[in-house]
Amino acid sequence: MTQTLCAALINRAVAAITEHATELTELDQAIGDGDHGINMARGFGAIAEQGEALAALPLNQALQKAGMALVMKVGGASGPLYGSLLMSMGKALPEAPASLAGVAAAVAEGVAAVQKRGKSAPGEKTMLEVLVPVLQAMQADDGSDLPATLARLRAAADEGLESTRPMQATKGRASYLGERSVGHLDPGARSSALLVHATADVLEERL
Ligand SMILES: [Mg+2]
Repeated sequence: MTQTLCAALINRAVAAITEHATELTELDQAIGDGDHGINMARGFGAIAEQGEALAALPLNQALQKAGMALVMKVGGASGPLYGSLLMSMGKALPEAPASLAGVAAAVAEGVAAVQKRGKSAPGEKTMLEVLVPVLQAMQADDGSDLPATLARLRAAADEGLESTRPMQATKGRASYLGERSVGHLDPGARSSALLVHATADVLEERL
């Protein structure tokens, strides 16, 4: 039996985070406290544990529940930030999204929640360096050619991630390093890019 969209998204996101947990930890060791891989793996492990129950829900409800799991299970900044992202997206998403514009509107709510929760804006070397360009790419697209749209979203994520390398962090623990934060990818931007790719890959396969 084919997986539901919801189950496929959960499985791919969990796999992406689990497979890259060591890399996320190494990135965070360079400019943070080295817990990003462990925190994300713990959070997505909690989502995996609820996988069957989540997969039986409409996507909007599953996102809200997955977001709550992240808030409850993950210490550090990443749990509340990713939790806010998923919960706000889920709240704003229609039960059966009919257009890219509808999805983009929900993602916009999620990104706004991250900015509010993190009291942050793009340019501070955070996950927003990926999320904001991906959102803008969605908003600039009419969705008439979905493979092309997904390619643009992946490219926006990759460029956003790479843009964090020369940036000096002015938010979070990495900001304590000042100029020494320059020259490293931001771990939160990396995990965001992983999740954008995981989502785009699932959608592409199901076209
Ligand atoms: Mg950390």
